Amino acid sequence: MNQPTIFSKIIDREIPADIVYEDDDVLAFSDVNPQAPVHLLIIPKKPIATVNDITPEDEKVVGHLFTVAAKIAADKGFAADGYRVVMNCNDDGGQTVYHLHLHLLAGKPLGWPPYQERIKRA
Ligand code: 5GP
Repeated sequence: MNQPTIFSKIIDREIPADIVYEDDDVLAFSDVNPQAPVHLLIIPKKPIATVNDITPEDEKVVGHLFTVAAKIAADKGFAADGYRVVMNCNDDGGQTVYHLHLHLLAGKPLGWPPYQERIKRA
């Protein structure tokens, strides 16, 4: 069973966030520790823990995360310049909050590859 996370509290308005988009299924808000001039998180309201936990019945809402990303990019005027959308999965992917989220990064040319070496736990 999925455990509630900090993102559930943002959905429920128990803690504040800079919310930029909301509909029945999805919420988008600014990342508290931005890694680019624009760094938003787009999340399903359904608490799916990781990419590994997406089921066929979730395909519609997961696809919707991407159409919301494209809408935000168009509305904010950086669609043509470009941006990055990424989901981290589990520890090696760098996931720290176990409620599915699409990072939307924009506002400058973004480096690649996106990882830094780190010492893996024994
Ligand atoms: P992950 O590392 O799981 O892919 O990304 C989690 C993201 O959530 C991080 O970029 C982190 O800065 C962001 N984050 C963690 N806690 C909060 C919070 O309380 N509010 C907001 N707006 N972002 C958060």
